[in-house]
Amino acid sequence: MLINKEELKKMFVNNVQTMFGKGLEEASTNNKYMALSRVIRDIISKNWLESNKRYTKTGEKQVYYFSMEFLLGRLLDMYLVNGGIKDTCQVALAELGIDLDELEKQESDPGLGNGGLGRLAACFMESMAAVELPGHGCGIRYKYGLFEQKIVDNYQVELPDNWLKDGYAWEFRKPDKAVQVRFGGSIREEWDKGRTRFVHQDYEAVLAVPYDVPLVGYRNNTVNTLRLWSAEAVNDAFDFASFNRGEYLQAMGYQNSVGQISKILYPQDDFYEGRVLRLKQQYFFVSAGLQSIIRRYKLTNPSMKKFPEKVAVHINDTHPAVAVPELMRILMDEEGLSWDDAWAITTKTISYTNHTIMPEALETWTIDMYKALLPRIYMITNEINERFCRMLWDRNPGNWDKIKGMAIIVDGMVHMARLAVVGSHSVNGVAQIHTDILKEHIMRDFHEVYPGKFNNKTNGITHRRWLLKSNPQLAELITDCIGAGWIKRPEELEQFADFADDKKVQDRLRKIKLSNKKILAKYIKEHTGVSVNIHSIFDVHIKRIHSYKRQMLNIFHIMDLYNRLKQNPDLDITPRTYIFAGKAAPGYYIAKQTIKLINVLASVVNKDKDIKNKLKVVFLENYSVSLGEMLFPAADVSEQISTASKEASGTGNMKFMMNGAITIGTLDGANVEIHNAVGDDNIFIFGLTSKEVFDYYLYGGYNVWHLYNNDIRLKTILEQLVNGFFPYEREEFRAIYQSLLSNNDEFFVLQDFDSYAKAHVELDQRYKDKEKWIKMSIQNIAHSGIFSSDRTICQYSKEIWHTRSVDICKGLSCSKH
Ligand SMILES: *Cc1c(COP(=O)(O)O)cnc(C)c1O
Repeated sequence: MLINKEELKKMFVNNVQTMFGKGLEEASTNNKYMALSRVIRDIISKNWLESNKRYTKTGEKQVYYFSMEFLLGRLLDMYLVNGGIKDTCQVALAELGIDLDELEKQESDPGLGNGGLGRLAACFMESMAAVELPGHGCGIRYKYGLFEQKIVDNYQVELPDNWLKDGYAWEFRKPDKAVQVRFGGSIREEWDKGRTRFVHQDYEAVLAVPYDVPLVGYRNNTVNTLRLWSAEAVNDAFDFASFNRGEYLQAMGYQNSVGQISKILYPQDDFYEGRVLRLKQQYFFVSAGLQSIIRRYKLTNPSMKKFPEKVAVHINDTHPAVAVPELMRILMDEEGLSWDDAWAITTKTISYTNHTIMPEALETWTIDMYKALLPRIYMITNEINERFCRMLWDRNPGNWDKIKGMAIIVDGMVHMARLAVVGSHSVNGVAQIHTDILKEHIMRDFHEVYPGKFNNKTNGITHRRWLLKSNPQLAELITDCIGAGWIKRPEELEQFADFADDKKVQDRLRKIKLSNKKILAKYIKEHTGVSVNIHSIFDVHIKRIHSYKRQMLNIFHIMDLYNRLKQNPDLDITPRTYIFAGKAAPGYYIAKQTIKLINVLASVVNKDKDIKNKLKVVFLENYSVSLGEMLFPAADVSEQISTASKEASGTGNMKFMMNGAITIGTLDGANVEIHNAVGDDNIFIFGLTSKEVFDYYLYGGYNVWHLYNNDIRLKTILEQLVNGFFPYEREEFRAIYQSLLSNNDEFFVLQDFDSYAKAHVELDQRYKDKEKWIKMSIQNIAHSGIFSSDRTICQYSKEIWHTRSVDICKGLSCSKH
């Protein structure tokens, strides 16, 4: 983006005056932030218009990434970095006596996602713009994002995330591009010119208004669009003048119910919520998104025939799976296509990513609810199902069990994953092991019918946010060693391995890590009151709190360490600081008790003088993208300890690795590929393999009581949960105790405890060799390039979407085109 220092200063000062009627001296920090963001908005919008013009002119295929969640993080700094104007901006503001960092903290961090799935969508948006793909996002503009977490009396308390309260600098409301979405009512069939027409009547109409957020590519002039839909009342839905009292109340009820649709993000990660409002949210943004895509397509294309050559629609998990019948509806009912033509277009257009194999996350709607809310969509889903089942019958005559196990509608339920598989041309898992499990276990029968549909696309993260932006000192070190090419071509990070033995590089890296730890230590002190030793190992476990992610395994290991230190305060271990962060779904009791246990354990351990400060435990509240940006660069150790087979990929693991932390982890999700990338010597692997986990589930043979009775460490720890070891909390952790012992330890916490403890002993010993450790760190950074979402996006583009990049030229006069 083009701007010089003096221009920027002028625009900035002018904005402060015109927006707030103040001089610079009087303006608040927030005024200044708003004034700066207006400057950046103006600069971005030039390239934005140019990008859209270019896309229309070239007629290149466009990708639309449909996701219920986009966990964007703050955008100002990313815009500056990617636009190549950060230095200019920093200097310009400094000359006005203003600290850019301070202004950046004014931006709210939009939490429009729960965790990995929503953050993946955000990384993909950044990478698509970086590799110059015409790729756009489609989602919901929730008025309230994921709740803000506070810890009160050691317990999680949820507060509303009112992220829009001061306005949002980066959205552009486009009321002229609003569309209607229809719910409820019934379908009347009419005979018209030799064919049946389906007329939707007595429906409730909702207005979907788009808010566009620009997505800026790294120094390439590309600006793509994230379109977030907000639900509003249709103005003429009711004639207020003629209302009697009853209708007035009804009308107000309508206004109210419309507002609900885009009001709040459901706060569960990897968990299915079967409420009608959730289905309403799904259909709302899917229908609005598809309508607007088709409207745009028709501006330059006379027939629908070429739709799949010009448009790819990708659905992030099954949440947008109603896209299949909705696209069918539009093509048939509004565009007049036959079933067969519409089906061919739909399946060539849509592709689907599966994110989990956990049964509690699988979406299935009752027919009653689905049909009442979406009568026409139900009819179409039903027809898809009948045709699919007929095909299955022809392949497996008489095999009802098999057909029942695959039918989209069966036993009163609509199965969204099955609909997504049948209605798309590509189904991908998010790490090799996850894709293998899909093919061999969860979707085995579907893989048999459609072997060509299944493929793997290992997740990635944008190294520009998670390294260049959030760890600027490390980025500078890397650039000093191998040049700046890695920012555009992350595979070049590999060259950093050549510096593993370079003493100066080792020394600089050590200092960078220490300086990042210092920043974090200061934050910890300010927010929890706990003083931590920056020379201790920073062992970091941050992610949603979930039984399968096994925060409990980490806690048990800390309890055991503490017990041993109490017996022998001179125990030879490197001082450790265990850092946790993560939110629990508000209705997930065990997860909330896990947070409480961490905090109670922290209060016991941190004030115990006997253990000579060898152990500290910290829980940081409100894990979010912004907090992550401070934590990943400061970590020495990355905890990735899910039960093997349960974590589809993980992306936190990649952020840690890229920032030089060493993983202690199970062979689960992308840990397997991280292990392959760095080799045995640069990672600590422990625990059951996914095959062993599946074998236990299939054949039995695991008995939690056996471990309880034979490992004194485990018996002690479990008893401590209920015997008054934690003062004032005697019965508080009974539920955790029960959940482990009564359900035969579903996630194999006790089973993996011993090998986890051993891996930690090895890790501790390795850390003592400072040079070896820093070499490991360099190897991790150097091999993290394949986990850039640039690589992931290029694979999606080549192998699923069949899209090409579009070069957006500098400014308006362009010689290349
Ligand atoms: C990366 C990220 C996640 C995903 O972390 P996992 O360890 O892969 O579960 C969740 N939340 C935030 C804020 C993130 O940045």
